[in-house]
Amino acid sequence: MRIKPVNQFIKFTSGLVFGKITGISLCPFGIYMDHPADAVILNHEKIHWRQQTEMLILPFYIWYLAEFLIRRIFQSKKEAYISISFEKEAYAHQDDPGYLKTRKPYSWIRRSCTTS
Ligand SMILES: [Zn+2]
Repeated sequence: MRIKPVNQFIKFTSGLVFGKITGISLCPFGIYMDHPADAVILNHEKIHWRQQTEMLILPFYIWYLAEFLIRRIFQSKKEAYISISFEKEAYAHQDDPGYLKTRKPYSWIRRSCTTS
């Protein structure tokens, strides 16, 4: 994976849907970040990178967007975003730099049925 500075196009388009971003993983193109030295955000994006590769990329994007749109019917934009199963896993483990070494495949599924 390549780490690149987030550009205005990515910031604008993702901002329209999800709000302000500090980092985004766009497998197979790279991880885009405002501050590449931020270890917590980088770990968060690496977790998403792993989720994307294990789902063979395209199904990840479809699932992510579908889950967001369904949750968005009942929740605010921010609540819907942080309730996405992939985000729950990434936020829960972004502070653990060794998480990806012990992570089991498809760990995000366990978080898909919880409400928050
Ligand atoms: Zn995320």
